[in-house]
Formats: sequence, structure tokens, C-alpha cells
Amino acid sequence: MPKFADLHVHTYLSDGTFSPEKVMEYAKVAGLYAIAITDHDCVDGIAPAMEIAAKLGMEVVPGVELTAEIGDSEIHILGYFVDWQDKIFSKQLNDISEVRKERAKKILEKLRKHAVDLSEDELFQLSGPGSVGRLHIANLLYKKGFISSVSEAFRKYIGNKGCCYVSKFKLTPEDAIAMIKRVGGIPVLAHPKTVYAEDRSREDMIKELVKDGMSGIEVYHSDHKPKDVEEFKGLAEKYNLLMTGGSDCHGFGKRQILIGKVKIPYELVEKMKASIA
Ligand code: AMP
Ligand code: ZN
Ligand code: FE
Ligand code: FE
Repeated sequence: MPKFADLHVHTYLSDGTFSPEKVMEYAKVAGLYAIAITDHDCVDGIAPAMEIAAKLGMEVVPGVELTAEIGDSEIHILGYFVDWQDKIFSKQLNDISEVRKERAKKILEKLRKHAVDLSEDELFQLSGPGSVGRLHIANLLYKKGFISSVSEAFRKYIGNKGCCYVSKFKLTPEDAIAMIKRVGGIPVLAHPKTVYAEDRSREDMIKELVKDGMSGIEVYHSDHKPKDVEEFKGLAEKYNLLMTGGSDCHGFGKRQILIGKVKIPYELVEKMKASIA
């Protein structure tokens, strides 16, 4: 039987809505064998996912998703097979999560200036343990009736060009890549379709990231159309990058359950393993 993987899944330890256990149960039903838990700036979902995976006869790829800034745009970098138990790594992620908390408070302050009053306590209750992010704020805005869709929240208030935008922990792509490599991980450019700069082509930006040490690219993603997949496959071949893929499921955080929407052959996971062996 061929085995399949979904290498981009969030849990409630960041802005997904499912527990790690629930993620694995959904993955099993979706016919997946391997799941990468890739929470934003947090690795606390990995151990509980591994525990249930052992019972279900599945595999968990330990992962994380970091944000890096290029000028005034941001890119996301996935780290696979990171040593998630490394003490310094945990401390680094903790520091980033602390900045996220302060940033969330600043976003709420800005929203108040736009006559949108959200309670800090309610936000932190909603986000729970792990890292807080804009998707939590978007969902609270929705719950309180300030907007009628999550995308409206980003457009109107908290998107990178929105009136209440606040930037995160400042990491350059080199910093993020180094952080992942220090713990033996594979740095992979997440959802490359979102890579954008006014003054440079996407390929030029990717070329630069490869120079910085990026080793892979997320060719398959829920937001990719067949022509996108072709484009990124081409770039993967041209720059000798590992090809990965995942749904970027956030549970109900983005309304639709995406887990299993992207299923990549397990051979791609084997290639990743071979690259670190
Ligand atoms: P943060 O890490 O707090 O900056 O938030 C990033 C999260 O917000 C990720 O899960 C993104 O997928 C999500 N996000 C960013 N822009 C949008 C958008 N326009 N619509 C919906 N979700 C978005
Ligand atoms: Zn997210
Ligand atoms: Fe992302
Ligand atoms: Fe993600």
C-alpha cells in the first residue's frame, strides 16, 4: 500500500483548533500515514502527537513554522526533523512567543483606536497554551460580530497592510534558517506563492533564500493551483531543493478542515531523511 503524508498541520498549540491527538485521528481517517506538526514558533504539540501516532501505527515528523522578515514583507520557513527537545531551541521559541503576546496586546490597543474593543483575557483564553497569533484575533473579531469573515479581518484590520498591523519578533531569513539548522532541521520555504516584494521577482527572492541555506520548497499546498505546482517544481529542480507539501490545516481556524487535502507520497519524506543522514 502506498503511504501518504501531510507535512504542514497546526494544532491548538498555535492557531489551529485541534489538539495534537485530534489531528492524528483526523489524519488517520483521511488515509494519511505521516503528519508533520508545524506550529508557529512552538514545538509543544510534537510529543503528544507522537504518543498517539505510536498507538495508531502512524508517524510524526517533528516540525515548526518560523516567520522571517524581508523588508516589509514576511515569509514563513518550515523546519523539519528539528531536535525539538533541544534546550536552547526551546528558549529561542519561548522568547519569540513572549514577543507574540506583547504584540497581540499592541494589536488590541490599535483596534481600540478604531472603535473595536476586544478583551485581552478573552483573547488569551481563546488562544490557550502555546503561541498566540493573528488568526486568534481574527476569530475573536468574528465571534464579536466586528467582521463577517476571517479574510475581512485581515483586509480591514490586521493584515500586513491593515491599519492595526503590528510586526512580530524580528528574524531575518538567515537567522531562521540558522536556528533550524543548529538543531539538525531542514529549512523549507512555506507556501512560496506568498513570497512577494515590490522590487524583485519571486525567483530572485528564492535564489537569495537558497544562498542563505534554504534546502526545500513547499511545492504542494492547499492554495496551490496546478500551474503553481508546476512553477515550484521547476524551481525545486533548478535550485536543487527538496520538494515538500502540506495542507496548512488550522482545524476550524480557517473554517474549513484542510487536513488530507494535500497528500504527498511518503517517498518525499524518505528523501528528506536521506538528506540529513
Ligand atoms: P501571525 O503568525 O500571528 O502573524 O499570523 C499568521 C496566521 O494568519 C497564519 O496562520 C496565516 O495563514 C494567517 N493569515 C495571514 N493572512 C491571512 C489572510 N489574509 N486570511 C486568512 N488568514 C491569514
Ligand atoms: Zn497559522
Ligand atoms: Fe504560514
Ligand atoms: Fe502554517
